Amino acid sequence: MKITLLGTGSPLPDPNRAGPSTLVQAGDQNIVVDCGRGAVMRLLAAGVLPGMVGTALITHLHSDHITDLNDLVTTRWIMMPVNVPLRVVGPVGTKAIVDAMLQMLGPDQSYRLGHHDDLRAAGPLTVDVTEVGPGETLQIGTVTVTTHATDHRPVEPSLGYRIAADGHVAALAGDTIPCAGLDDLCRDADVYVQTVIREDLVAQLAALLPNSQRLLDILDYHSTVAQAGQTASRNRVKTLVLTHYVPAMQPGAEEDWRRVAAEHFTGTIVLGPDLTSVEV
Ligand SMILES: [Zn+2]
Ligand SMILES: [Zn+2]
Repeated sequence: MKITLLGTGSPLPDPNRAGPSTLVQAGDQNIVVDCGRGAVMRLLAAGVLPGMVGTALITHLHSDHITDLNDLVTTRWIMMPVNVPLRVVGPVGTKAIVDAMLQMLGPDQSYRLGHHDDLRAAGPLTVDVTEVGPGETLQIGTVTVTTHATDHRPVEPSLGYRIAADGHVAALAGDTIPCAGLDDLCRDADVYVQTVIREDLVAQLAALLPNSQRLLDILDYHSTVAQAGQTASRNRVKTLVLTHYVPAMQPGAEEDWRRVAAEHFTGTIVLGPDLTSVEV
């Protein structure tokens, strides 16, 4: 099982970090968890063509986690010789988002269908959406995925995905504060991927801004780096992977971020630029 951070950024644009998205290569599957800004570019850099991704698991419907889902859907459709719909699994509300997205892509689809006879023969652009709640189990090829409630309120619902294959487990949490569902998600996992913020750096940044309340508001619904370390430790995780760095982790700051997590967790801590990966 290989986990690759396709995008380690956040809603705040950064020239070097794509938006939140993580590739899980497990069993016979390539699965992306969330699909933020630039995810498809990073997918290619990881050696995976869009058509090789069968499933996208969506943790929640915040824009930064889904901005490039339309790009993944479109590039799969126009690049694949056969028309195999992308399976999209997400919380309640995902179907409405995908329906609206397909409506947005309507003109593009009609241009391409009008221009390419073989694409018309392959069939229209479709997406196979499954809305899930917590406590569900999905079989995706040889991979088993269970869904777990996370707490990103007022964003509701939000989910984490526990992915098991070949005797290994990866726990993929989206944006969430520590909670019982998160503990269930990552208990005894080989790898636990957590989106994080640094509350000390956010506070420093906010002090420099004229209208800082909007930035300070984010502190109450994300795990801090320290909390991610505590969650990993409490649940006997082997490897903690940090992503979605807010503020963006500056070059050379990796060891400072690692130190904050290491105060709470003695296992392996993985962080870094886009395309950082871990294999178990
Ligand atoms: Zn969010
Ligand atoms: Zn986010």
